[in-house]
Amino acid sequence: MTVLDSISTLESIRAKVEANERLDFEDGLALLESDDLLALGDLADLARRVRGGTDDVYFVQNLYLNQTNVCRVKCKFCAFARTQKQDGAYTLSIAELVDDAVRQRELTRFTEIHMVNGENPHVGFEFYVDTVRALHEALPDVHLKLYTASEIHHMTTLAGLTHEEVLRELRDAGLGSLPGGGAEIFAERVRGLIAPGKEHPDFWFHTHDTAHRLGIPTHCTMLYGHVETYEERVDHLLRLRDQQDRTGGFLAFIPLAFHPENTVFERRGWRFTTGVDDLKMIAVSRLLLDNIPNVKAYWIMMGMPLAAVALHFGANDVQGTVVREQIFHAAGAVTETEQKIGELVRYVREAGRVPVQRDTLYNELRRWDD
Ligand code: SF4
Repeated sequence: MTVLDSISTLESIRAKVEANERLDFEDGLALLESDDLLALGDLADLARRVRGGTDDVYFVQNLYLNQTNVCRVKCKFCAFARTQKQDGAYTLSIAELVDDAVRQRELTRFTEIHMVNGENPHVGFEFYVDTVRALHEALPDVHLKLYTASEIHHMTTLAGLTHEEVLRELRDAGLGSLPGGGAEIFAERVRGLIAPGKEHPDFWFHTHDTAHRLGIPTHCTMLYGHVETYEERVDHLLRLRDQQDRTGGFLAFIPLAFHPENTVFERRGWRFTTGVDDLKMIAVSRLLLDNIPNVKAYWIMMGMPLAAVALHFGANDVQGTVVREQIFHAAGAVTETEQKIGELVRYVREAGRVPVQRDTLYNELRRWDD
């Protein structure tokens, strides 16, 4: 595409954004192929505002847990999973997991537990239901955002139940929402290369569709920056948009940059995504996903300085504090979580936006607008 072609394409997309018209596949591709990064940011910020976005930028105080890293799947991009017999494999008992969560809650007032795991073939469905119930009983006012669609699908095979039956049991035990993992890239060509053992993407959609119809909100993601093409990225985003049109249950979209370290891709010379690609993905996500209200700049992956820039590229959420406190923290000292909140607030303010602490469902808990 020549520079002049690119300018006229972006101008025609701008006209659509100003009129709050839906962008199509070709628009998405043109945006990804554009090198005019500042124009992309400007367009995405415009789209966010045209659709009712304000200066509020959200974060949540949460605790990340992984109960087991034992996994049967062996995705090629994964540096987390182990087989049962490998060094470093672990599965926490329900009591160990709950004790840890309760101790952390005494040190920080997190409002959400975010937990994903390997697909452990050595535990049964009851293990998951009992875990949810025990966490909910121990911490009834904490929102439980647990288990990717892949884990839910794994549970259906463990239990011989349908997705709806599994989700109903988990919901009745205390599950609040699903995280968005397991989506990777929906295109079968890519899935076959990076995650050949993972279930067909139709199951990912079926799980989220079922959850939404049961009143369980969910999140959605895309893992980018490996073997996928721009066409496959756009296809992924449009499939999510179609699903949101059908059920409306996605709370937020989180683009996840691929990290090659400790994977086969590192040995093949793969590198981290660049800041340019990360900002482009945030902008294009905001522009195409006109029906998903929140786009997260996941600072844990992109770093807080770039996440703050992403707030001008369509993002309106920087995710959470994601800090574990030391149990023997000196009495009266400022906790790491409090430090992290201060840092998030500083970055968001420096970006000219208003920091707002939220719960998982985007209810406002505290704001810094002075
Ligand atoms: S299913 Fe999840 S934990 Fe298992 S190998 Fe794939 S990404 Fe890793």
